[in-house]
Amino acid sequence: MTQSLDPRTTGRHAHPHDHARDRQLRTVDGTVDPGHARAHADIWLHEVTAGYGDREALGSVTLAIEPGSLLAIVGPNGAGKSTLLKLIAGLVRPWHGRIEVLGSPPGREAHRIAYVPQAELVDWGFPVTVGDVVMMGRFPRLGPIRRPGREDRRAVDEALEKVGMAGFGGTQIGRLSGGQRRRVFLARALCAEPDVFLLDEPVTGIDPTSQEDLMDLLEAEARRGKTVVATTHDLATAAQRFHLVLAINHTVVAYGPASLILDPDVLARAYGGHLLVLGGGAVVLDDAHHHDDAAPGEVHFHERGDH
Ligand code: ADP
Ligand code: MG
Repeated sequence: MTQSLDPRTTGRHAHPHDHARDRQLRTVDGTVDPGHARAHADIWLHEVTAGYGDREALGSVTLAIEPGSLLAIVGPNGAGKSTLLKLIAGLVRPWHGRIEVLGSPPGREAHRIAYVPQAELVDWGFPVTVGDVVMMGRFPRLGPIRRPGREDRRAVDEALEKVGMAGFGGTQIGRLSGGQRRRVFLARALCAEPDVFLLDEPVTGIDPTSQEDLMDLLEAEARRGKTVVATTHDLATAAQRFHLVLAINHTVVAYGPASLILDPDVLARAYGGHLLVLGGGAVVLDDAHHHDDAAPGEVHFHERGDH
């Protein structure tokens, strides 16, 4: 059970990157060589179907995410973005198909993976301090008996500093603003020093300056070879700050360079009737409001066409 197979030297292989070939691998279109993609990937899904009760949320998802990726998952409300992250984190089991994370089944390498849930789903009434929450990121490294030591406390302070929350260690988490809570959760992920970040809407509801700061942090992690996968509602951020984008709508619609998401065909396939167009050709989504109804005054179109 506990054989220490390092997937970096066993299941996967290294060879010089041929970027043209990489692009081909990332285009999930049936022509991909799945064995090759899998050998390269930190995260690998093959024909995965999953759902809740008897309702399918995701179908036929085939995907390989390479180490060092800075990947945005986009798609309308209910598209299955959070479900996909939970599948990779091992929190939701697939109905069919296969998933490997760091060369193992999901959950096996939990100490090397930091998962940050969507902030709305967290019980903020729980009486814990910011420092407690961030220290939770260290728990997988501590083992069952070890208590946090100086090194762990240093990691917590460092992570809080990185996200601009230094000095908040003793503050009750319930007293923070939404944006501050997201930063604390990101600090928890950072101080876990994981190889894979799975972040559910880490920048939603944060002011633009903090968003930029957090994206700088994530970009730095990706540059160090960490794999960063984040869902986002913000297509501009996805296009400008991420390197890759995965558009989903119950299955993979498109996967490739971040600029893909500005392609009207991709947008139409991903968002269908949820697209809306503002003056000057800017395209935004009703999804950004976090509910299923359109805000007053929003103009929708339900078919592609020249307007
Ligand atoms: P997204 O994050 O893209 O908004 P989700 O992955 O949260 O999408 O949801 C995908 C689908 O699965 C939706 O139809 C949603 O209602 C359903 N769903 C998500 N979580 C649950 C759950 N815990 N129980 C039942 N249905 C769920
Ligand atoms: Mg979600």
